[in-house]
Amino acid sequence: MLANNSHSAPEVATDVVAAVRSVLGTPNEMTALHEPEFAGNEWAFVKECIDTGWVSSVGSFVDRFERDLADYTGTTHAVATANGTAALHICLVLAGVQRGDEVLIPTLTFIATANAVSYTGAIPHFVDSESVSLGVDAEALERHLQQVAEVADGRCVNRKSGAVIRALMVMHAFGHPCDLNALVALAERWKLVLIEDAAESLGSRYNGLHTGGFGRVAALSFNGNKVLTTGGGGAILTNDPELGRRAKHLTTTARVPHRWNFVHDEIGYNYRLPNLNAALGCAQLEQLPGMLARKRRLAERYAQAFDDVPGVRFLREPAGTTSNYWLNTIVLDPAYSRQHEGVLGLLNDSNYMSRPLWTLMHRLPMYTDCPRAKLNTAETLADTVINLPSSPRLAD
Ligand SMILES: *Cc1c(COP(=O)(O)O)cnc(C)c1O
Repeated sequence: MLANNSHSAPEVATDVVAAVRSVLGTPNEMTALHEPEFAGNEWAFVKECIDTGWVSSVGSFVDRFERDLADYTGTTHAVATANGTAALHICLVLAGVQRGDEVLIPTLTFIATANAVSYTGAIPHFVDSESVSLGVDAEALERHLQQVAEVADGRCVNRKSGAVIRALMVMHAFGHPCDLNALVALAERWKLVLIEDAAESLGSRYNGLHTGGFGRVAALSFNGNKVLTTGGGGAILTNDPELGRRAKHLTTTARVPHRWNFVHDEIGYNYRLPNLNAALGCAQLEQLPGMLARKRRLAERYAQAFDDVPGVRFLREPAGTTSNYWLNTIVLDPAYSRQHEGVLGLLNDSNYMSRPLWTLMHRLPMYTDCPRAKLNTAETLADTVINLPSSPRLAD
């Protein structure tokens, strides 16, 4: 049954709910946006930690998880961390970001991207996204940099503020790889260190290569709502052996290895992933290919269901990419932006947990004064994007 306010709902909302119902049926209780699934060795591996006493910040599952992650993503080094935000923080440190620098990031992202920049004492500089991948718009960024920046002494400098624009952090929104070829080239041209916030894109590939291997460093997240969860957790990926070594050092309190002495050679961080969580991660990684296959099936069903819903576009993986379809996404035609709230209301009333984009970063009180490009596309997307329930089990 539809919720009792359906008679007053705008037409596009009833169309959207009908399309979702054709995929998910009629649930009696709320269908989560993305719920974890523990169908393999999770219990056995976690029990092994408890049985052996190796539950904390070192242990064989941490080592194995890091090796398995590097193998899976095709990177040479993976360092597990307490969460994705911590991984992002260290990525920025590894990129050489310093107090007073600026870091280009999309305004269309989760708060962690902007906060991690702030933790280094640097300033987020917000840029626009494009509507194919929802990732950073390379052409718009090129135009913006031509207006506000210049390369001098091998560094990119903001001509207005005088600050060094040290890095560009891109984000693969909802698992869809952003326009990496163009962004890698742009970063080289403008002497920016490229960092990938790959928190949402474990399992997503661009031209056959796993996301997270294109920038100098990348961050993953294993929060409870992500494709793979360790309860809470993250990882730093890199193909640079020196950065890999430094990532491990910085995230483990910068302790100099010694059998009994505690000497630390710089200010490090306790960002380690406990063995207990890594055990969960090892078991989850074994399940990942199966979960991704089911998520693709679900996405294909949504795509078909929305094929003939006028004014609504199902966000498909960009050409040349394979998305993990972390969160299935529809985009309303801008003409329907005033019905956005109504569609969200009817979906949630109908037990399909659905949500809009995060509030754009430049609209949050602590970031309103930060430098920024024109953000027109992101602002339109904020009024038109909706995420739909995406758990793998919904494909069964
Ligand atoms: C989930 C996520 C993170 C990291 O979040 P944690 O909860 O700290 O693991 C970072 N960036 C984006 C875009 C995310 O979606």
